[in-house]
Amino acid sequence: MPYILHIGNEVQKSQWLPKMATGQAVGAIAMTEPGAGSDLAALRTTAKKTADGWLLNGSKIFITNGLQSDLVIVCAKTDVNAGAKGVSLFLVDTSVAGFARGKAINNIGQHAGDTCELFSLIC
Ligand SMILES: Cc1cc2nc3c(=O)[nH]c(=O)nc-3n(C[C@H](O)[C@H](O)[C@H](O)COP(=O)(O)OP(=O)(O)OC[C@H]3O[C@@H](n4cnc5c(N)ncnc54)[C@H](O)[C@@H]3O)c2cc1C
Repeated sequence: MPYILHIGNEVQKSQWLPKMATGQAVGAIAMTEPGAGSDLAALRTTAKKTADGWLLNGSKIFITNGLQSDLVIVCAKTDVNAGAKGVSLFLVDTSVAGFARGKAINNIGQHAGDTCELFSLIC
């Protein structure tokens, strides 16, 4: 929610914040990848502008609420040559075509929260 509250536009705020506040919509944040955890500048998910919107291509791992999320804030590279400055955030509605979830990851603790992989995102 803080991402939408602080940097979202008015449409995103009115569409998602009331539902998130009441628990009707569950959110997730997808930064970590199999090859990029602490070092987010190394992430490999890309976002390319298309005629219809944006094409996101990549996979994420260890995403809390990944299985039950209605929206995911996804970190992706919009400029692969700009290091950390080339990373952008995308609000992905999980009902879009091309969004896929992996299996639940079995954690040692925090059994009330789900953690999983997410793949090939299109928004
Ligand atoms: C239960 C759970 C829920 C999670 N939920 C989310 C989520 O919702 N969204 C999300 O995006 N991610 C999530 N994560 C992923 C989490 O953010 C990453 O595990 C974390 O960023 C560390 O990345 P990594 O596991 O790849 O470890 P690495 O980056 O491989 O680090 C391994 C170790 O090396 C150390 N290290 C790394 N780089 C350096 C350096 N340059 N100098 C010194 N030491 C270093 C680290 O401190 C760490 O101790 C979750 C993880 C878990 C376990």
